[in-house]
Amino acid sequence: MPKILSSDTPEVEFSPRPVKGVSFYVAENVVAAMADHADRGYEENKEVMGLLIGYILKDNDGIYVKVADAVTSDLDADEASVRFTQEGLEGLFDSIDKCEGDAVVGWYHSHLGIGCYLSDVDIRTHVGIFGDETGFAIVIDPSDSTIATFSCGREGPQKVKMIVMS
Ligand SMILES: [Zn+2]
Repeated sequence: MPKILSSDTPEVEFSPRPVKGVSFYVAENVVAAMADHADRGYEENKEVMGLLIGYILKDNDGIYVKVADAVTSDLDADEASVRFTQEGLEGLFDSIDKCEGDAVVGWYHSHLGIGCYLSDVDIRTHVGIFGDETGFAIVIDPSDSTIATFSCGREGPQKVKMIVMS
């Protein structure tokens, strides 16, 4: 039987999760960096975005994710939309290589004064990046300093419990 390379998935490390029932953990300094990025964008009336880098782990309850780093790059943004520029995308891959963590586990972006949710465009973006793979979307609204995390399964966006780790 040949080894099927296209379905080869990397070995997921077994490690008990810090809090039972919670599948999403973010390092405190990453939350601070994202909030700071969102604040800087808010001053210019622009949304911001970036990718979440970290570890996909498993325990007896299944898969969970720890975010260890966040990266961003050149953005093309206004008050209601944001995307990476072509040059930004190219630079992004170099930045990811230098990050702590071994997988792109999600993305973050900001909403200016409209609250934290996933719009139809956000859902398409999310599915475009992650498809069926494990991926989380963090939305930050710097106007009232709120943050929420979502996953995007078949049932549509679901709010995900997030634990901030020091
Ligand atoms: Zn959005």
